[in-house]
Amino acid sequence: MKSRIGKQVKTYVANILIAVNPYYDIPKLYGPDAIKSYQGKSLGTLPPHVYAIADKAYRDMKVLKMSQSIIVSGESGAGKTENTKFVLRYLTTTYGSGQDIDERIVEANPLLEAFGNAKTVRNNNSSRFGKFVEIHFNQKNAVVGGFVSHYLLEKSRICMQSNDERNYHIFYRLCAGASEDIKKNLHLDSPDSFRYLNRGCTRYFASKDSDKQILQNRKSPEHVKVGALKDPLLDDHGDFNRMCVAMKKIGLDDTEKLDLFRVVAGVLHLGNIDFEETGSSSGGCVLKNQSGQTLEYCADLLGLDQDDLRVSLTTRVMLTTAGGAKGTVIKVPLKVEQANNARDALAKAVYSRLFDHVVKRVNQCFPFDTSSNFIGVLDIAGFEYFEHNSFEQFCINYCNEKLQQFFNERILKEEQELYQKEGLGVNEVHYVDNQDCIDLVEAKLVGILDILDEENRLPQPSDQHFTLAVHGKHKDHFRLTVPRKSKLTIHRNLRDNEGFIVRHFAGAVCYETTRFVEKNNDALHMSLESLVCESKDKFVRELFENSNSTKDTKHKSGKLSFISVGNKFKTQLNLLLEKLRSTGSSFIRCVKPNLKMVSHQFEGALILSQLQCSGMVSVLDLMQGGFPSRAPFHELYNMYKQYMPEKLTRLNPRLFCKALFKALGLNDNDFKFGLTRVFFRPGKFAEFDQIMKSDP
Ligand code: ADP
Ligand code: MG
Repeated sequence: MKSRIGKQVKTYVANILIAVNPYYDIPKLYGPDAIKSYQGKSLGTLPPHVYAIADKAYRDMKVLKMSQSIIVSGESGAGKTENTKFVLRYLTTTYGSGQDIDERIVEANPLLEAFGNAKTVRNNNSSRFGKFVEIHFNQKNAVVGGFVSHYLLEKSRICMQSNDERNYHIFYRLCAGASEDIKKNLHLDSPDSFRYLNRGCTRYFASKDSDKQILQNRKSPEHVKVGALKDPLLDDHGDFNRMCVAMKKIGLDDTEKLDLFRVVAGVLHLGNIDFEETGSSSGGCVLKNQSGQTLEYCADLLGLDQDDLRVSLTTRVMLTTAGGAKGTVIKVPLKVEQANNARDALAKAVYSRLFDHVVKRVNQCFPFDTSSNFIGVLDIAGFEYFEHNSFEQFCINYCNEKLQQFFNERILKEEQELYQKEGLGVNEVHYVDNQDCIDLVEAKLVGILDILDEENRLPQPSDQHFTLAVHGKHKDHFRLTVPRKSKLTIHRNLRDNEGFIVRHFAGAVCYETTRFVEKNNDALHMSLESLVCESKDKFVRELFENSNSTKDTKHKSGKLSFISVGNKFKTQLNLLLEKLRSTGSSFIRCVKPNLKMVSHQFEGALILSQLQCSGMVSVLDLMQGGFPSRAPFHELYNMYKQYMPEKLTRLNPRLFCKALFKALGLNDNDFKFGLTRVFFRPGKFAEFDQIMKSDP
């Protein structure tokens, strides 16, 4: 691996691009001239670049007549989303059809980011969902359309954020940027006035170095109106306008735009509804006095009947079997805490359905009838290991195990198999196959996801019971340990029934299982479900259409029905991998240079651990003893025979190559002859090609 200092932020290991996030805009690096210069150029001819990977994918698609995928990985803030956008822009600019579609594929991003990105402590514009964006091409290899699949939107953020983090951008942008008219209709005020926005985001002060740097660089100080929730690092007002421009470009009309805004505002008002105990013997709760207006706003915006909404939030419908009168409907009053949970569950359901709709709508912007091949770009969170790890980390790390296996398959296994087939006699590189870890999570019945579903279906599911079941089933599993007994990872004195540790390929992670059961369930309780399904607002009603079809219908006693989040993800993920396996693949490994999010600071240990987590170290091991570039004899023969004397060209291609290399005096260590092709040490093929072309 060539190390480059200064402004070079990218390098290759074989065909894998390593891209370090520079944290500042390098002039001209991504501009139109750069786009032009990479067109049709082989990997390695020009300095390493995402454009070179994009162009390689395109040429492979064209020559091999096979769809391609580009897998972009790295931890939060490493630059996955930015690089993904560069790839999309490159392909649509260079190989577009010159029609609307090209621009729409790029302009869909601001909308997706408004609803699916948020400020976190790791990234001011962190994607809280995974996506696979396909650009489809026709027979002539021109862009015909696109398709976006999305994975696992982080739902907990809708109701609650950690310190110094924010909710999804759209909430603040709408409050900051909407016209007075719209704000009045939606009863919007400053973000301070909404519970879902004012918890987590502390009053702004620049505590982090990165923030100070950004503030210093800001030319116009009017952004810095410091007030609660007006984050001076983010320009919510400007971003709102940019988002509206993007919406227009992809073809959303004003009605559709207002539909989206109305629901966003509805969620905000819903969050402001408060409950208090009735004090009566029934033990139920009622809305606090001041919540009356809020209830009205929320009901109004979501097309619900005020009374129905109130009743659905404070009671739960149960089918009773008491006194032999089977199937009588009774309303059980909820406690304050239960009512809060019902409110939050409704908000999460509405918002995540809204996000599904946004993606669906985006997909209608670049439809296509027939496609010959596609290039798909995967932008999904890398391996996560935080102080507290919950269901979200469990799912994302499971996903990374699957992607790592695919990477091993593609890069390591295939490489070794080829060396063997060609009889090169290169030493085998040992890498740990992680199938056992994948099985631990996804195996039928005994896998953790199925054990969790089993728990969700019990009359009274509990996180502790689930945790003990996991320990019980996998006592002796190499990949699983009980927290208390483990020295693998630091954990905060968890009791046995509060968590489990999984030994992932990238390290051991302790998962705290509190709320696993709740987070694994996508269903609303019956009263809320029927409430939204019968909304007077057509748009809201449609958000919840089809929601009955996928549900587990075993809710005999009117209890929560169950839609499994984990198993839905497993199915989606397996479809994705099936797709990836059917394509040619390239990899972009993004690296975060420091935790402060500032330019020109490289923290060695941090970077090394990222390279280890992404499997790059094993690849380097292989490459060190390996031959990453290769060319079939007949190709070399055809390429260079014109430069050779007549006598040489009468040799068969293999002998021709031998004679040629001898004549050029190439070093024996730089290449190896296989059965059908020559293999070169890293960089040596380019050198050889240079000699041939410059000195015929
Ligand atoms: P990820 O998707 O991996 O979490 P992002 O792609 O959102 O990370 O990048 C985080 C931030 O880093 C971006 O908002 C941008 O400020 C900066 N950044 C990333 N890549 C580049 C780049 N190539 N050039 C300049 N800045 C970048
Ligand atoms: Mg991202």
